[in-house]
Parts: sequence; structure tokens; C-alpha cells
Amino acid sequence: MFESANRLTLLEELGEFALIGQISEAFPIKHADVLKGIGDDAAVIRKNDEESFLLSTDMLVEGVHFDLVYTPLKHLGYKAVASNVSDVAAMNAVPLAITVSLAVSSKYTLEAIEELFTGIRLACDAYKIDLIGGDTTSSRSGLVISVTVVGESKNHEIAYRSGARLSDLVVVSGDLGGAYTGLQILEREKQVFLADRTMQPELENFSYILEKQLKPEARIDVRGLLQKLDIKPTSMIDISDGLSSELHHLANQSGVGFTIYEDKIPVDQETYDTARLLNLDPTICALNGGEDYELLFTISVNDFEKIKGNPNFSVIGYCSEKENGINLITRNQETAVPITAQGWTGFSKTDH
Ligand code: ADP
Ligand code: MG
Repeated sequence: MFESANRLTLLEELGEFALIGQISEAFPIKHADVLKGIGDDAAVIRKNDEESFLLSTDMLVEGVHFDLVYTPLKHLGYKAVASNVSDVAAMNAVPLAITVSLAVSSKYTLEAIEELFTGIRLACDAYKIDLIGGDTTSSRSGLVISVTVVGESKNHEIAYRSGARLSDLVVVSGDLGGAYTGLQILEREKQVFLADRTMQPELENFSYILEKQLKPEARIDVRGLLQKLDIKPTSMIDISDGLSSELHHLANQSGVGFTIYEDKIPVDQETYDTARLLNLDPTICALNGGEDYELLFTISVNDFEKIKGNPNFSVIGYCSEKENGINLITRNQETAVPITAQGWTGFSKTDH
């Protein structure tokens, strides 16, 4: 069914995207009502001539996506929902409902699961969605949470990854790199704690980035913000794996290149200061750090005046010819360096 060499292929050499590509090729769409299958933030299923349902699913695995040493279960529940709702927001659509499936050790307490569901309920209230089902099973190797989200939208309002056109502007919501630098602080404090268990974590001064890491918000508000500005995004994706990785997805699916300006990439002061403190380049944190769940989208250049100076959005570049690739104009404006997709590469130890 899959294309393979004359030997067994390790997933770590293939990589996640190539694997998904092979799955997608093996399953051509049968129904005309499936307007979009594999390949975008959510699948699109036609409801009628005017509207569609959106469907997306994501799994969080202990030890891969979260570490219970520093992740409160309540936050984990919230994040599991927010990261899924984010995929509906990334289609410029409205979330409706979720299902939640759990694989959990029978050694967990009811009180622990209650904490998890307290976070899930908070997110359901914040995003005005219903919990409508799920599955519960035992696990022998850590906690696994799988959330599926359903959304809806008018057909003409749905923003796909494939809609960016030459000369469109590239825009991001909020700011980037916060969740990644927050994670670095949590990892640092964990190491300190493991070395000396009497040590208390030093977490003050990092409240914004810790919140970005532990309790990210899905940007379901962006749809309304853009409607008020009378802007329809031409393409859209959420930033779950890092800006560079998502730029590559938009470029590949839209058949364009991008020119991005380093000095336009929004980085919060606390993110910047923490990156410097940890000897990290703030721009690299913004480009390659994941889990910000901000939205990356393109708009027509004719809409520039409508969005210019808006505090919710930053115009960071424009769409160029595909042949130009994806380039970063560095702060000194002298060099254009290619942006490589660093987000998620292979089933390696660093995957997320
Ligand atoms: P996102 O980061 O937006 O959640 P992913 O990178 O996880 O998106 O997935 C990209 C696309 O591949 C989505 O359309 C998703 O539904 C699809 N996909 C991922 N894993 C599988 C799988 N095991 N089987 C079928 N489709 C998959
Ligand atoms: Mg996504």
C-alpha cells in the first residue's frame, strides 16, 4: 500500500510529513461531500450548499507532549481542548463540540481525573463548546488524551492552507516564541529540582511565557476580528509546530514562496528577555518554537490599510514567487537567509 524501498523503512528516516503523505495517497476521497480530507488543519464535510462541518483530532502523549512533573492536570485538560479548537480556528471556522478519549492507568485517582476534567470543562466554557462523547480505556504506559473537535462554517468563509497568492501579505496574530521559552524555563527548574529536591522553582518573572506554555488559548477570536475589519484571509494555519514549519505548509500547498522580515516578527518582551537569559536567539525561538497556537494567515495586499497598526496582528512579510523559496530578511536588512522547516522532523527524541 505504501511506497517503500527494498528494505524496511524506519519512521525516523521517513518523517511525519512523508508518512502522512503516503497515508493520504493510499486513501483517495470517495464522497463528493468531503470537500477536504487529509492535509489541512481540519477536514471539511459539506453540510449543504451554504455550510460545512469541520473535523480535526489531536493526541497528547505523556513523555512526548507533556511532563506531569510540571504540568498540572487541570492545565493539561485545558491545553488538550485548546490545541484542538485551534485547528478549527485555523480554518476560520467556529468550534461546536468535542469528544475526549483517555488511556489512563488504573493507579490514577478519581481526584486526578477530576482535575483533568476541570480543565476540560473550563476550556469548553471558554470556547462555548459541548463535550459530546469519548472513550475511556486503561493504559500501561502513561496517560494519553485524544480530543476530536467538530466545527462549522459558511463554505465561502473557510480558509484553507492552499489559498495564498502572489503579493498577498503574511500576517500573524499575537506574539511568538513564548510557549517555547516557557518550556525551557520549566525544564530548567525541573533539572534544578531533580538535583536538589529541597529547591523551590523560581518561576516569578516568567508568568506570561509559562501561561503561554501551560495554558495556551486557541485564537477563536481572530475570525470575528477579521470580519470586523472586513478582511477574508486567503489562507490560514495555526502555529503549533513553529512559524517556519507552518510557512512551509502554506508555501507547499499554495504554490508560493515567502519573504519574511525578522524585525516584523512579534516577540513579547518577556519572551525576548528570557531567550537572552537562556542564551537563545529570540528570533530562532519565534521561528522554531512550537505550541504558541497563534494563527498565521495571508490577506490580499489591498487589505493592508485595514490591518495596518492593529494591535492584534503583525504583517511580517509577503508572498513571492515559489522559485524564491522562503526567506528571512535579517534585521540588518543585508541578507536574505532561507528559512528551513525545523518544526517537527522525524520520529526523533525531540518530536512534539
Ligand atoms: P495539525 O498540526 O494542524 O494538527 P497535523 O500535522 O497533525 O496537523 O496533520 C496534518 C494532516 O494530516 C491533517 O489533515 C491530519 O488530519 C492528517 N493526519 C495526521 N495523521 C494522520 C493519520 N495517522 N491518518 C490520517 N491522517 C492523518
Ligand atoms: Mg493545525
